[in-house]
Amino acid sequence: MMCWLNQSTLSCRKATELLSEACEKRLPFTRRVALGAHLMMCHLCRRYKAQLRLLNRAARHYGLPQEDTIPGQLSDSAKERIRQRLRLGDRPEHLR
Ligand SMILES: [Zn+2]
Repeated sequence: MMCWLNQSTLSCRKATELLSEACEKRLPFTRRVALGAHLMMCHLCRRYKAQLRLLNRAARHYGLPQEDTIPGQLSDSAKERIRQRLRLGDRPEHLR
């Protein structure tokens, strides 16, 4: 129970990391539950999730390659650099 409570109280930073991660792969059950609990309480992260969904839809609409549809297009180091930029750089102040 204590473990579940700890995981259900994510910071916004961790929640946005998980939202980005969820675009690439299915999250483990406990993380999905923790993320869902955070999203129920945090309208800013719900907004961030909606923006991610919009960007993914736009990318598909305009034919931009999705990571999972063209495997091997980016090196692992390039993917990691992009993840780091998404985590650290281009976020609103309240999400840093
Ligand atoms: Zn949040």
